[in-house]
Amino acid sequence: IAKDEGGRCFRFFQPMMTSKMTRRIQLDQELRQAMTDCSQLMLFYQPKVDLRNGRICGVEALLRWQHPQQGMISPAEFIPIAEDSGLIVELGDWVMVQALEQLVRWQQQGITVEMAINVSVKQLLRSNISERIQSLAQQLGVAPQQVQLEITENNIMDNMSRIMPQLQALTQQGFTLAIDDFGTGHSSLSRLRDLPMKVLKIDKSFVANAMRDHKDAQLVEAIVEIGHILNRTIIAEGIETTEQMTLLQQLGCEEGQGYLFARPMSAEQVESILLQGSIDIRNEAMA
Ligand code: C2E
Ligand code: MG
Ligand code: MG
Ligand code: MG
Repeated sequence: IAKDEGGRCFRFFQPMMTSKMTRRIQLDQELRQAMTDCSQLMLFYQPKVDLRNGRICGVEALLRWQHPQQGMISPAEFIPIAEDSGLIVELGDWVMVQALEQLVRWQQQGITVEMAINVSVKQLLRSNISERIQSLAQQLGVAPQQVQLEITENNIMDNMSRIMPQLQALTQQGFTLAIDDFGTGHSSLSRLRDLPMKVLKIDKSFVANAMRDHKDAQLVEAIVEIGHILNRTIIAEGIETTEQMTLLQQLGCEEGQGYLFARPMSAEQVESILLQGSIDIRNEAMA
């Protein structure tokens, strides 16, 4: 059909493509500016919960962009743009500084918590991230054991041999590495075994489907089992219902994260949860 329509097809799609590209270019430039304007970009924090006892076992730092005209723009939109343009390297560095500084502020208030930070593979390829984060942590007085770095599965697998030295250096320095969005990419079992990633984060799409589809529930079970054979800790993301939580507890998943427990929120808001130390997750499965 496309062949039949020939040029008409092209004329029809071109304006859409152009406006999409214009928006990407514009957002990228504005994001560059936003990095110098501290009121637009900020980190939110979402608690991670130990599914065995309800204790808060960490927080994940999630970037938020309050655009002056357009309001909140989702990282799902602007992170890929920053990755394409390369801006993610500077942006990722900004995130790292903010997150570690927040850890220090919490330490001063007597709050000790593990911080998970999302890292783009571009940061691993284009900057010497292991040296950078180590010196930053040292300078600020943050123990590497308190920092977890999340990298999405697809990105790791596409660049495995090139990023391996950085991953190994980070692990040796004491940072914990996690595979984010696990299950959506294309890991082979042998690569999974060889990666120095201590944590697997099961993608929220599996958690969402597990209740609807018995096959997906079995897949989650298999992921947890494989993870455990390889001595990894399993985190489920996107837990929204008690039923999902109960299933994941029954499958032996150690940690969970999701709207059921808490949404990503400002540092001030998350403090009260951190001071409390746990979230009430009592149910039959826990008895
Ligand atoms: P991610 O790292 O997989 O983060 C989990 C996403 O799921 C977050 O979306 C979080 O707000 C959302 N989420 C948490 N609980 C639930 C739930 O119960 N249900 C549903 N439906 N969603 C839930 P967010 O904050 O929009 O971030 C999207 C993605 O953007 C992140 O996915 C991550 O890949 C990327 N990202 C965010 N901040 C950063 C950053 O500082 N650096 C890099 N490189 N990427 C980032
Ligand atoms: Mg993440
Ligand atoms: Mg994820
Ligand atoms: Mg994700």
